[in-house]
Amino acid sequence: MNALPSRPVAPVMTHHPDVLALTDYAFGSLRVGPSLVVASHLTFCFNCRDRVDTLEAWGGEALESLPPDPLADDALDRALARLDALPAPVAPPALPAPVASPAPPAPVASPAPRVTGEAAEYPAPVRQFLSPLASGHLPWQPLGPGIRQVVLVKPTSDGSCARLLSIRPRTAFPRHSHRGLEYAIVLAGGFDDEQGRYRLGDVAQADERVSHRPEVGDEPCVCLLATTGPLHFSSPLVRLYASLARL
Ligand SMILES: [Zn+2]
Repeated sequence: MNALPSRPVAPVMTHHPDVLALTDYAFGSLRVGPSLVVASHLTFCFNCRDRVDTLEAWGGEALESLPPDPLADDALDRALARLDALPAPVAPPALPAPVASPAPPAPVASPAPRVTGEAAEYPAPVRQFLSPLASGHLPWQPLGPGIRQVVLVKPTSDGSCARLLSIRPRTAFPRHSHRGLEYAIVLAGGFDDEQGRYRLGDVAQADERVSHRPEVGDEPCVCLLATTGPLHFSSPLVRLYASLARL
């Protein structure tokens, strides 16, 4: 699969980020990978965008309503005393007369980062991560049978990362549980798991309590997967492979 299929004009979504994720996103406290998933969902979902706008407005009003820190009674006296204690200023040496210099060249506006080809078909938040990676076809790398990936946020020591996954039709992602939170958004096709059916724009969230085996339907699936901790695969063989692939 080299390109995302064209989007429906108004995808019907049934799975949205939960209120905690939207709140953390609005207040800037969601980690970069999950933020990328939520921001991508907002490009599909007017309802969640409205909720985030409302949360951001609440946050701004709450900050403005905070009382200013009161000044101590002697703050002015202490500031004046510090000024008095400074050494007398020394006159600077006379500067040479300025020499006329040629006018600097007019600044040239640097072009905004652009992505083209396959990368241009992704939601704007994802494109920001793709621009340094590719102009044209994305650098898909094999991850497992029927599964390819493009790493957007490299895995950290605590297992946080974000990656695009391209999965062939009727392919299952191996059963796994989570050592942190997992956020996934469907960018093409869809998948099913024990929690439901996910289609374009839908967000799947899973935590330590969830063990699942996402399975792609008859269409190729592209999704953005962000984790805040490593996945734990049920199969020892897959576990070994995943540790090498830093999944
Ligand atoms: Zn939504």
